[in-house]
Amino acid sequence: MGATVNVNGRVFDQEHAVISVFDHGFLYGEGVYETLRTYNGQPFLFDRHMRRLRASAGMVALDVPIGDAKIDARFRETMRAAGLGESTGREAYIRILVTRGIGELTYDLAACPNPSIVVIVKSNVEPSREAFERGVKVALVPIVRNHPDTVNPRIKSNNLLNNALAMQEAFKRGAYEGVMRNYKGQLAECTQSNLFIVKNGVAMTPPLDAGLLPGITREFLFEVGADVGITVRDAELHDDDLLGADEAFLTSTTREAVPIVQVDDRTIGSGSPGPVTRAILDGYRRRAQELTRAVARQT
Ligand code: PMP
Repeated sequence: MGATVNVNGRVFDQEHAVISVFDHGFLYGEGVYETLRTYNGQPFLFDRHMRRLRASAGMVALDVPIGDAKIDARFRETMRAAGLGESTGREAYIRILVTRGIGELTYDLAACPNPSIVVIVKSNVEPSREAFERGVKVALVPIVRNHPDTVNPRIKSNNLLNNALAMQEAFKRGAYEGVMRNYKGQLAECTQSNLFIVKNGVAMTPPLDAGLLPGITREFLFEVGADVGITVRDAELHDDDLLGADEAFLTSTTREAVPIVQVDDRTIGSGSPGPVTRAILDGYRRRAQELTRAVARQT
């Protein structure tokens, strides 16, 4: 893997990056995280990721004890140590985790005065060329996305067991991703990405109140749609909408927009990536390049 890790402000190589077993992130899964990637060496949509990190933290009564500028500095310091990012021409994957911190075996917040902050940096690996060019198969899995009154799916929580179980079911079926429904049986999202379908030229994704993570890529695609002249909107979706779609795709920071051409044993649309997905992916990449080039010039 070859990761470089910043643990509470100190940089370590992968083997030496450790955290206490009494950290409540380990004991109870109490923590939140963000995944970013760089384009042109610049963490993409940094401000939006920081907003979501703080929103997630707020929903679990966790304080992120350092400001955005300091987080940005940690990202850059860790990337430098990893030989990635700015001026290296090598793009980085960045994961920041904020956990409750070290404390006694109790749920009492007072037991953990100091949250832990870990930044994991490694070389960014894009999905294969084949995934983009031929599309992927997904599985509609029986594991239901968390009910919003349990661990709300809006929280980007380190407590990922439900998603892990759903993805393990998808792996068993030889799928690239697992699609989850919400407790009402409506489509929600994938285990590590958001879901879009295309019907009659319009791209649609389940609304936030279906109970899903407000993906940064998902949100950004509403703006990309406006750029490339494609309507992108949210809509309540069911299995039949996916199975009867002209096109479908999944989105995330690390995957951009990957075409879906098969759901279990059913072919979607023509069975090949469609023109709307392509236009949105191209528009996304163009915007990502433009925005990060502008930042790279300022720094
Ligand atoms: N949904 C879930 C459950 C995820 O884990 C992710 C990836 N972090 C996403 C959606 C996509 O979010 P983003 O576009 O912000 O990477």
